[in-house]
Amino acid sequence: MSRLRFFPLRISSFSWSRIVAATALVASLAGPAALGQNLQGGQIFQAMANSYYKKKQYIPAAAQYMEAWRVEPENATAAYYAAYCLYMGGRKDDSIKTFWLVVDKFPNRKEGQNAKAFLQRIDPAFNRHGGDARKALASSVVPASSGSSSTAARSAGSGARTSEKKSLSNEQLVKSMLEIHKPRGKIPAVSDSFVKGVEGIMVALPRYVLLMMHDRNARIHLVPALVETDYRMQNVRPRGYSEGSSWQNSNAMCSGRNLYIAQYRLDSRSGNFVTAATEIGSIRHETGHCIDHCLGYISQQDKFRHPYRLAAARVPAEDRQRLDYFLQVASGGSSETFAELCCARFGGETDEWRIKTCSMVKSYFKEPDAIIGSYLKQIEEKYKDD
Ligand SMILES: [Zn+2]
Repeated sequence: MSRLRFFPLRISSFSWSRIVAATALVASLAGPAALGQNLQGGQIFQAMANSYYKKKQYIPAAAQYMEAWRVEPENATAAYYAAYCLYMGGRKDDSIKTFWLVVDKFPNRKEGQNAKAFLQRIDPAFNRHGGDARKALASSVVPASSGSSSTAARSAGSGARTSEKKSLSNEQLVKSMLEIHKPRGKIPAVSDSFVKGVEGIMVALPRYVLLMMHDRNARIHLVPALVETDYRMQNVRPRGYSEGSSWQNSNAMCSGRNLYIAQYRLDSRSGNFVTAATEIGSIRHETGHCIDHCLGYISQQDKFRHPYRLAAARVPAEDRQRLDYFLQVASGGSSETFAELCCARFGGETDEWRIKTCSMVKSYFKEPDAIIGSYLKQIEEKYKDD
């Protein structure tokens, strides 16, 4: 039972393990030898795209996936990856448009369905279109291929942000990222003290973390309950949760650059929504997921996963059950450990049970923590004049 109450969460807006597996599968095609073989049509573009993707060069990868899709109109994988790489490369508007094209073109394939699930998270106008691809595309103003005008607008925008951020205090940075959501159901609005509490924690984060999040257009959403952020989520079981539980039992999550923290969560024993205000420190954990996102998911790369696995194997038997959320196999364990180690660095959890768990994670995962430290140093260096 107790596992239901102490674990902050991150929603996986796509199946990372599936993408890694797919990338590994096609990566074998992407080497120079493979390019010399009998690759035909879209395969050549796709092999090049995969090669860029592996190097995290998302915009060139997107261009090659687009080519692969143009040559092979039924290649749903290339289409999906084109949209996904645009997203990873920071071209959000283009990415949204392209995901809608995938939904429209492949409504009954898993790529179309995954694209739709992704759009629910990233397209602010999703509900306005009722999830209808034709309506979304009709109202879309940014053609997927017209890089020039949107690029110009974007660089002008980021230029403005760059000069603006130097004069912004931590308080102003946090205020500019904060969004307070009104109740959409029976659960009451977030209280002033809850808002103040979260603001206080965010303002106290290292300034370079706030500057990076601000640069990446991160949003901090304060919501009455997580389930209210999206009703479709109601019966979805979060990662690492036991059978029968759902997002309603959780108080925080992160989806890419969007952090959510709720004042109330469902208590599975009583069936009532209870305050989660003492668990406000979870926002530091979600910040950790956001940093992971901004760094291109370090937690899923060998340089982190290898020391993580070694440390995980050394956690003694008597503590394994308590830490099982951080020992999950596949991508979950290393991702959660990354986030919790960041949390510890930023002041830790605030709820009694979580405080203890957080300090255990910190003591068992020293080497992964040192890796995080080196990345944070790099971010600090990058923003040292701001
Ligand atoms: Zn998490």
